[in-house]
Amino acid sequence: MPAESAPAEALLKDVFGFDAFRPGQGEIVEAVARGDNVLAIMPTGGGKSLCFQLPALMRGGLTVVISPLIALMRDQVRGLREAGVAAGALTSGNTAEETDAVWDALQDGSLKLLYLAPERLANAGTQRMLGQAGVSLIAVDEAHCVSQWGHDFRPDYLRIGALRAALGVPLAAFTATADPETQDEIVARLFDGQSPQTFLRGFDRPNIHLAFLPKDGPRQQILSFAAARRGRSGIVYCGTRAKTESLAQALREEGHSACFYHGGMEAGDRRAVEERFATEDGLIVVATVAFGMGVDKPDIRWVAHADLPKSIEAYYQEIGRAGRDGAPAETLTLYGPEDIRLRRSQIDEGLAPPERRQADHGRLNALLGLAEAQGCRRRQLLAYFGEEAGACGHCDLCDTPPETFDGTEAVRKALSAALRTGESFGAGHLIDILRGTMTDKIRQRRHDDLPTFGVGQDLTRGQWQGVFRQMMGHDLMRPDPERHGALVMTDRALPILRGEESISLRRDAVAKAERRPAVKALVSDEDAPLLSALKARRRALAEAARVPAYVIFPDRTLIEMAETRPETLDQMAAINGVGSKKLERYGAAFLAVITGASEEVHPARRKLAGRNAGSLYDALMAAQAALVRGEDGTEKPLTCSASQIAKLAEARPTCPDSLSRVLDQRRAERFGAAFLDVLNAAD
Ligand code: ADP
Ligand code: ZN
Repeated sequence: MPAESAPAEALLKDVFGFDAFRPGQGEIVEAVARGDNVLAIMPTGGGKSLCFQLPALMRGGLTVVISPLIALMRDQVRGLREAGVAAGALTSGNTAEETDAVWDALQDGSLKLLYLAPERLANAGTQRMLGQAGVSLIAVDEAHCVSQWGHDFRPDYLRIGALRAALGVPLAAFTATADPETQDEIVARLFDGQSPQTFLRGFDRPNIHLAFLPKDGPRQQILSFAAARRGRSGIVYCGTRAKTESLAQALREEGHSACFYHGGMEAGDRRAVEERFATEDGLIVVATVAFGMGVDKPDIRWVAHADLPKSIEAYYQEIGRAGRDGAPAETLTLYGPEDIRLRRSQIDEGLAPPERRQADHGRLNALLGLAEAQGCRRRQLLAYFGEEAGACGHCDLCDTPPETFDGTEAVRKALSAALRTGESFGAGHLIDILRGTMTDKIRQRRHDDLPTFGVGQDLTRGQWQGVFRQMMGHDLMRPDPERHGALVMTDRALPILRGEESISLRRDAVAKAERRPAVKALVSDEDAPLLSALKARRRALAEAARVPAYVIFPDRTLIEMAETRPETLDQMAAINGVGSKKLERYGAAFLAVITGASEEVHPARRKLAGRNAGSLYDALMAAQAALVRGEDGTEKPLTCSASQIAKLAEARPTCPDSLSRVLDQRRAERFGAAFLDVLNAAD
């Protein structure tokens, strides 16, 4: 274990293998390590866990981590142990032996991190145990679970505030949910209303490509998107349970490995899908939002929305599950008028109080605005979260700027058609009026007598559909919750109707739906074979160790290996994600794939890799090799053990006296002078 006083950066590299903090992490780690109460709002994949794991190593005593999901806790504990950190979990998923081991480690004070399921807090024994365990910090993951309005509400989270008060220790709460109401609830319930230090940071996820398309044969749109990404893990989010099942089936028929997941499934079946997704390479899960919080897989390469999410926050959180390892990831969100209708009615029919519903409409509007954006989507998304940015160059609108036209006239015609028919009809009928199409309904209601009848023949039916969708997207019209399908004008539309404001619309939104997204490779053609070979080695190691592949190394690390092709363990150690423990365990195996050499590296040498001592070890070995048979090559062969050489490389004796503490007289005589030359030459 590293010393408690070790600075954050050293631990970051040594234990976690990362070269630098991600945006926001550094300050949060500092505040948590200092013992401040902290609320950190970070995007999914922003690297929250590090923000309590690292301070846990810096602070004395035990850090208790409360997390709502067993699978997630087990994953983190496994990851920490791989990195050489004493961590354990108490959950209902434990075997008796696992629980015993955790209690033993608690008793002898060796445990640094204890993960607890919230249900445990209801147990008096747990409370007593925590009182005696020398807890110095409480970390709460997914802190929005205290909010009773969220669909992740966990009543047991309400006990955390009392625990904090009873133990009198600092608390650090983490969530990816950014809306102010949820934040207020967190402060009220976890911090007893005393505002903690709050961090809202790092919402940009530059490796995620953003794209939206209006629905136009949505099933085929999803199938083409998946086809262009064959063999890569992805999630397809759907609005209904039934759709998850049929779409998963359609994907399987196209030869993908795909399964469905929704809240109506047995817990056991859900668990099985989670397990498969975590361990299998290239599985697609077609799911409702129930597949969410527990998804901790860092190498999800794409996320598609077959239906529009419910708000801009939900959208952000869902796409954020892609590419947590920092390697390229892609997203596609489909939307259409039916989605808008559905989402609005869900809000209107929900049980939340009126202010909350109003806010929910606002959040849906923000998402629709993003869907109908005319400039860089990332810039607009970040602006919503309060971050300023330039055009990103990595979204569909930066790739191909949309063609726009002055839509003021079209919008006024459409509004007028709606108003003159008492705001009682949906887009289909209004378009018939505008285009002057004689239908039975028109004839019956004598809508052909209206002055708006036939005034919109300059646009095709498809173009009018685009206009109506964009009007709903800009919240100029809303579906009437009382009358199915009817569109009513909102106050926002008034200035346009009166000719006080103009509006620009996208022309090509519908036509563009035909385009197939191009496949983007993860690495250049030249590096692709090496990347596959590295992945194959990873799969073999993962299967042998019965862990998910990313526990060995995430995609991003393998990509960096393929691109930089380290030739020695020391160069390998410089790669992001290669900490000292992992280097020791797996470095040689991956190096062998790259260099094509054998894996025979002595364990004593492996331990030194990545440090100066590593190259010193090699130099000492070389000096020794020249003297195995003495100066003149005629004496009896003699060598030092690898651990003796390692000791020298670490202790760096610079005079014969200190050298003799490591080497016996015979070896000191043969090698001493040459070794001292090497050691003294090193800086
Ligand atoms: P979340 O914020 O969603 O909980 P995690 O803590 O699981 O995200 O981190 C997401 C991924 O980012 C993990 O694979 C983690 O190893 C990686 N990560 C975290 N911090 C860094 C860093 N400073 N440099 C590189 N990768 C990091
Ligand atoms: Zn952009």
